[in-house]
Amino acid sequence: MGNMNLCFSGSGAKCLSLKFKNFVMKTITLSFFFLMLVSGNLFAQESGHFHGSEFCAHGKQMRPDIDISALRGPNSPRHTFDVLNYELDMDIYHCYTDPYPKSFSGSAIVTFRVDTLLSQIKLNAVNSSLQINAVGLAGVSFTHAEDTLTIQLDGNYHVGEIVDVSIDYNHLDVTDNAFNVGNGFVFTDNEPQGARKWFPSYDQPSDKATLTLRAKVPSNVKLGSNGRLADSVTTSDTTWYTWISRDPIATYLMVISSRVNYNLEIVNWISPGTNDTLPIRFYYNPGENPTNMMQMIIPLADYFHSIFGEHPFEKDGFATLNPLFQWGGMENQSLTSLCQGCWFSSLIAHEFAHQWFGDMVTCATWADLWLNESFATFSEALWIGEVSGQAAYKSQLNSNANYYLAQNPGWPLSNPQWAFSPPPNSTLFNYAITYMKSSCVLHLYRYLVGDSLFFSSIYEYANDTANFRYKSATTGDFIAKMSEVTGQDLEWFFNQWVYEPNHPVYNNTYSFEELGNNTWNVHFQANQVQTNAPFFKMPLELKIRFQGAPDTTVRVMNDANNQAFTLPFNNRPVGLTFDPDNNILLKQATTVVSNDFQPVSPLNYFIIEPNPAKEKFVAQFSLKETSLVSFTLSELNGRLIQETAEEQYSQGDHSKMIDVRNIPAGNYLVSLRSGKSISTKKLIVIR
Ligand SMILES: [Zn+2]
Repeated sequence: MGNMNLCFSGSGAKCLSLKFKNFVMKTITLSFFFLMLVSGNLFAQESGHFHGSEFCAHGKQMRPDIDISALRGPNSPRHTFDVLNYELDMDIYHCYTDPYPKSFSGSAIVTFRVDTLLSQIKLNAVNSSLQINAVGLAGVSFTHAEDTLTIQLDGNYHVGEIVDVSIDYNHLDVTDNAFNVGNGFVFTDNEPQGARKWFPSYDQPSDKATLTLRAKVPSNVKLGSNGRLADSVTTSDTTWYTWISRDPIATYLMVISSRVNYNLEIVNWISPGTNDTLPIRFYYNPGENPTNMMQMIIPLADYFHSIFGEHPFEKDGFATLNPLFQWGGMENQSLTSLCQGCWFSSLIAHEFAHQWFGDMVTCATWADLWLNESFATFSEALWIGEVSGQAAYKSQLNSNANYYLAQNPGWPLSNPQWAFSPPPNSTLFNYAITYMKSSCVLHLYRYLVGDSLFFSSIYEYANDTANFRYKSATTGDFIAKMSEVTGQDLEWFFNQWVYEPNHPVYNNTYSFEELGNNTWNVHFQANQVQTNAPFFKMPLELKIRFQGAPDTTVRVMNDANNQAFTLPFNNRPVGLTFDPDNNILLKQATTVVSNDFQPVSPLNYFIIEPNPAKEKFVAQFSLKETSLVSFTLSELNGRLIQETAEEQYSQGDHSKMIDVRNIPAGNYLVSLRSGKSISTKKLIVIR
């Protein structure tokens, strides 16, 4: 049948960009416009696509590697309890004055719930940093060896019992890159395993606990930590700060940021959802000027609120540190650490997004770290798009993809073994993989399911109180949630992009065939030639240019290598562009006209009637030889609606009836698959 015009105007790609524009326009607020007027260069840092994620990555790579010698399993030391609260008291008064000793005396009360009958607990406590003096409350004796503090309890405790142990300890005068002291600064930097160097802790990312942190400091020191400032009491030259976090925190996100003569300003953001005030603290060094970021944080918070839901914490904040904190941003819960003078918009956007992804929903193991960094890095691009438009969003992601393609070290985003034995930090926090590639995977997911399902699934994930909010997620949990919300089994998609290394290398061919009677076929064969990864299944967009007619973009699902697609048109095709908007960011591709590419159609003919169809249609086809045949019905954007089982048909003429009573009125594509060849017809369903 040659008179079906496939030059439909609503190509998938065009819809994508228009929808995005509508989506973000709604979230631009009056205050945002006001800020644009009063501060013309507010977002000046955006030009040149400065990447906040790079700061995040470099700082983390410099931290000491995870010590795997003490790891015997994903929850080592063996997890027989769940920490509910840490109450820390630290006398760090002398750390601020010359010669800036790194030693302090502290005490910790660890409250935990018993998960297995036990009479002792094991905590992480690094011997070279911590000296344990005594234990108390339910603790009666202890040993401290091989970075493990074993506390003998005063009896057997049963499942569900809540137990307190106290620990008196000293931090030694050593440089451990977790408890940092120098020139009037005291700050901590934990990820991935620094907490155990300044307080005994069950230091695994999935065991989140609330925190009360009291610190004694000189009265000219400002000290910030997680949660809310419950109290600060000053008597002559001494101040006691008390910070209390209502919300559970992973130990790697617990923090102290403090210095003599810190500047502090507080911006109050009002949630449009609850009308609650969120104080956002800006601690900064003399000589720095965070004014632009203090202005930007309001529209940024509005925007993230609109796509991720309520800000999760009682306060938020940022603190710039000194050069001991090298090249870094660190998303400590409700108080991000920044390198000296690093008031950059993309860094602020990256770390602010981490409050939802990383802090509120935490990677359950270090094998799931890509979940933290993909969202934070992708959110930089979202914010750039919100400020500067869709082209800027795409440009940022193209730049991320190019970095990955140039620097790809060839390992996957996640290796399940990393939950048991994490790799060196240069691997775990590898910029090309954990940041750049992972951010692109979220765009590929967006391309796969479309804007509406993409944003609703992200929102549902971030607002799932039963499973994720203030809890942790494994990669499997995340995939299951995305599948649940979208109603699609997405395991194949995330498996290939998260657990397989590398990317597809397309070597495509196409040709045009004139059939006469004003009809043409476009033949397209999608070939992947990479040898360092298996086949990647993806929807492909093909933009076809015509003589004297508008361009058309068609989306087809490419689910087998060397698949051939035949698309009928009644205008003369003159050009074809593969993936015209570069939505498949993670690929290399060549697509050439091939005169050698003479696809041998397995069909003598293929027609569908009636068309339009109301209740059913009949596909009539004739096979040149016996083969397996199946049919798919999909939306114009490629989304699969229904699929028939593969059946064997002999050479000759056949017909197959397909029921469309359960399908809404609209335009669809009917594809007949025979071996690696796919022939497609447009079908109109009426009601
Ligand atoms: Zn980050």
